[in-house]
Amino acid sequence: MKRAKPSAPTAPAWAFQPDVPITPGPGFLSWPPRPLAALTWLLGRGYVLSLEALYVGLALVIWFWLAPDLTDCASLAPGWMLHLLALNLGLTIAYAGGLHLYFHTLGRQGSHHRYSGRDLARDDTKFLWRDQVLDNMFLTLASGVVLWTSLQCLLLWAWASGLTPLLGWAANPLWFAALFPLLYLWESAHFYLIHRLLHWPPLYRFAHAIHHKNIAVGPWSGLAMHPLEHLLYFSSTLIHLVIVSHPIHMFYLFNHLVLGGITSHIGFADLQVKGRKVIDLASYYHQLHHRYFNCNYGTGVVPGDLWAGSFHDGTPEATARIMKAQRKPRAAAPR
Ligand SMILES: [Zn+2]
Ligand SMILES: [Zn+2]
Repeated sequence: MKRAKPSAPTAPAWAFQPDVPITPGPGFLSWPPRPLAALTWLLGRGYVLSLEALYVGLALVIWFWLAPDLTDCASLAPGWMLHLLALNLGLTIAYAGGLHLYFHTLGRQGSHHRYSGRDLARDDTKFLWRDQVLDNMFLTLASGVVLWTSLQCLLLWAWASGLTPLLGWAANPLWFAALFPLLYLWESAHFYLIHRLLHWPPLYRFAHAIHHKNIAVGPWSGLAMHPLEHLLYFSSTLIHLVIVSHPIHMFYLFNHLVLGGITSHIGFADLQVKGRKVIDLASYYHQLHHRYFNCNYGTGVVPGDLWAGSFHDGTPEATARIMKAQRKPRAAAPR
């Protein structure tokens, strides 16, 4: 497969750039430790006042009203699995489709706080049917939703058949509540590691190059991945086989992976209503990865990039450093 080329330092300026340098993360695992900064972040815009709260709420709605009954999941009958597939297809189409319609088709926010000046690609041979959005939708629905539903079936079956212990709210409410942010941290570390792995040249060429065809991104780009990348991306949820947890935690983790993946590629920094910011959407952190490739592999929540020297803070100095690293013989662009 032909490799996508990273943007040169002379690439068109961002249509919108937040204040730089961006901060390297909330302070988890940093040295010297900054527990107060980390806690403040967690209780504020980092977690409690972010879309993560929506993902937790939606997990409760799914569990109590939308998901198949756990007792049905002990059998391998197709009924409850198809129920789950229909639910996940509907959720993805409503969320990614709704955001695409709002921001890109109807342009309700114009180009206000849109990172890229480029439109989503049309008549471009590198995409299926020469259309970036159709290509992204196909990969998301035909591979992403099917594989993610399969993993959910496996986990629900393990709980229903007693293979995995079920954690009840009443047994330990503190642990039950703490698991939500803990799973968030786990997924952040897992994503950093599998993303580094996906930039290993053979894996990049075989799988990850598909995601990196998307330079300007839209909501459907978030899960536009090769099936192998989908499996690696969703594999963080297998932790439910080894820790004591509840399907609500699993639905939350999938919401974070799926809806969070879609949100982080909307292409807009935030949702504005009447000129006022309502909520943060796509972080600049991952936009920089799509433009320069060998930086910002994680999400900034855990300090992997900081420790490995791959953190790009958005400044021209960081761009020069990252581009210099790309020109080294072993790291010749993009990996
Ligand atoms: Zn991406
Ligand atoms: Zn990448």
